[in-house]
Amino acid sequence: MLPSYFKRLATLLAVLALAGCGTTSSKTAGTTAEVVITVNPKLSVIQGPASAAVEARKQPIAILVLHHTASSLPSALDSLQGRSKGHMVGVHYLVSDEQPKARIFRMCPDSLAAYHAGKSAWGKFESLNQSSLGIEIVNYDGNVHPYPKPQVEAVLALAQHLVTTHRIPPENVVAHSDIAVGRKIDPGSLFPWEYFAANGVGAWPDAKDVQVFRILLKSKKLANADIQQLLRTYGYRLDDNSDKTLGLALESFQRHFRGAKVDGLADDETVAILQALVKKYRSGPAKAASPARSGKV
Ligand SMILES: [Zn+2]
Repeated sequence: MLPSYFKRLATLLAVLALAGCGTTSSKTAGTTAEVVITVNPKLSVIQGPASAAVEARKQPIAILVLHHTASSLPSALDSLQGRSKGHMVGVHYLVSDEQPKARIFRMCPDSLAAYHAGKSAWGKFESLNQSSLGIEIVNYDGNVHPYPKPQVEAVLALAQHLVTTHRIPPENVVAHSDIAVGRKIDPGSLFPWEYFAANGVGAWPDAKDVQVFRILLKSKKLANADIQQLLRTYGYRLDDNSDKTLGLALESFQRHFRGAKVDGLADDETVAILQALVKKYRSGPAKAASPARSGKV
């Protein structure tokens, strides 16, 4: 049986952090009792150690940012508690790479802002720590190492809960690399974004639109200025109009939406995916353009 104070603590946490929709239990790992909040049959969250680098939230939550840790679980837990040298970081959730079941640690409540995004921008949003939630996923490099299935399912269940609870739109579920062009490469090209979108988390283009845009591009290529405009319309921040910055933004874009080849080049497939995404997510009802008449998207 749980000591009653643990029960009260766990219940309070469930109410505060997870909309009161969970049940609680505890188990012992070594000598440390874990407070486990069961949010739904697919999602259990462990009350982790308190994250360093958090502050009061002054903006509503509008964005979910996914990261890889570039470190092991113990090292990530140390860094997030401010025990590592270097700059201070914080995050809301940390998902382990353990098998057969990944653990999700809640490091700070959603109601606080955590320092996980750094210098960043997405659409009209700047410095996203204030407007976002962050999930750190244990992986040394998601461009090299595939994410194990139990970890993918744990992140998905958590993300499904967060996008529903906070009404985060698909196009605002982003990679750290999306919001920090030229600076970050996580969670990497091997992150299963398409699978997530198929399960209600994040954006993905309609295959048919991509096909039609590819056919159109065969007869008429877009100028760099048009591609820059499309990237900006979708959300990417390009600080200037140089070819170098365009290449870096395309790399970020490909890492998310065309992970099989990340080379920063505006090949037809890359541009068609970008056009299809802008059509699906960034064309308001009044401007909804079909691929057939989309010289300007
Ligand atoms: Zn990151």
